[in-house]
Amino acid sequence: MFENLSERLERSFKILKGQGKITEINVAESLKDVRRALIEADVNYKVAKTFIDDVKVKAVGTEVLTAVNPSQMIVKIVHDELAALMGGKAVEINLKDSPSIILVAGLQGSGKTTFSGKLANMLKKKGRGVMLIAGDIYRPAAIDQLKILGEQIGVEVYSEPENKNAVQLVENGIKYAKSKGTNTIIVDTAGRLAIDEQMMQEITAIKRAISPSETLFVVDSMTGQDAVNTAKEFNDKLDFDGVVLTKLDGDTRGGAAISIRAVVNKPLKFVSNGEKMEALDVFHPERMADRILGMGDIVSLVEKAQEQFDEEEARKLQSKLRKDTFNFDDFLKQIQQIKKMGNIKDIASMIPGIGKALKNVEMDNSMFKQTEAIIYSMTPAERENPALINGSRKQRIAKGSGVEVADVNRLLTQFDQTRKMMKMVAGGGLQKAAALNNK
Ligand code: GDP
Repeated sequence: MFENLSERLERSFKILKGQGKITEINVAESLKDVRRALIEADVNYKVAKTFIDDVKVKAVGTEVLTAVNPSQMIVKIVHDELAALMGGKAVEINLKDSPSIILVAGLQGSGKTTFSGKLANMLKKKGRGVMLIAGDIYRPAAIDQLKILGEQIGVEVYSEPENKNAVQLVENGIKYAKSKGTNTIIVDTAGRLAIDEQMMQEITAIKRAISPSETLFVVDSMTGQDAVNTAKEFNDKLDFDGVVLTKLDGDTRGGAAISIRAVVNKPLKFVSNGEKMEALDVFHPERMADRILGMGDIVSLVEKAQEQFDEEEARKLQSKLRKDTFNFDDFLKQIQQIKKMGNIKDIASMIPGIGKALKNVEMDNSMFKQTEAIIYSMTPAERENPALINGSRKQRIAKGSGVEVADVNRLLTQFDQTRKMMKMVAGGGLQKAAALNNK
């Protein structure tokens, strides 16, 4: 995501890097590029202008002129201003009420139902008792969709397919959830393809009737400038508490993230970035700014990894790496951990420099199938000690896993490289490892 913007910014900064000193003139020049990039990335025109003005004031100050490395200064200022523009700090949703009711609103197709499921999943994992209410009285398919998601994540879904009174239905659902002692209720509502009076009336009536702890507005980031307009209209009527930006995994222009906050003055709270139930992140302005500037969303990545990796396992692995006893069983475990983390493309796209490269690459967890098959065809002794794998063993393994010997060779080389790289990482030589990886 944000490829266009980060590429362009990279270029403006490169121009700047070629110059010895920052002057008012070259700041103005590079900021013109930044501004063009922002507008092309669908950032609201006024927002971009204010942003540039702020950066200019900060950049042309003495702090920058006396700085040793002017381009770094500018990057830092642009980064901080971008983060500030998106709210500065992460804002959590309100879960203090008992039960906490979260009302989810947005246009049809924005990703409301998917998000409701993902949020239920996230909160359930945090140990909360969650129930979903299917409040879309117009599209039976929406109820079914939520039910399927509910089943997948093990969360009960309340629905009344025959009830045509949305307010009453939601009230009934809340009564039912309370009777079950549920402490978190997520209400998915009906959307329309475009803003319409009846829909607005319905959602405001629901909000009035149930006084939710949190009203979240869901918007598709791929709709660009329209996303900002829709947000504004919903906010005028509904006075929501936070924004959920969906489909950030797509080939989206990042402008919406930057301008929504500035235009409606409501915090972005979540970003949804994939089809899987796990593909939901709390929105962090700092990290989003890192990502926009191509610094990669490393922190998010680490958090995701921490959520999935068993600490004990990680410690064992590290010690194995130090002792150089990392073997194919460990490799297999690693693959399984990665698969648990969600779609491999979602994860890889968070790594700086990789997002761009992966844009048009088909990649999913099935690409591990062959690797797993080959490893499963090895004997325990071979997995433990890959040096044993000679020519005839390779042939046996290839046959057993239905691949060519060349595939086995490729895996062995890959394993060897991984082992070398991981050993360096474990030994603290991250830069050495990166250099190896870039060879
Ligand atoms: P609703 O009409 O607002 O409830 O929207 P849905 O939840 O049904 O989502 C509309 C479509 O977008 C579905 O095909 C979803 O699978 C897809 N979708 C939702 N969120 C995401 C996301 O974060 N990434 C991607 N790639 N697709 C998404």
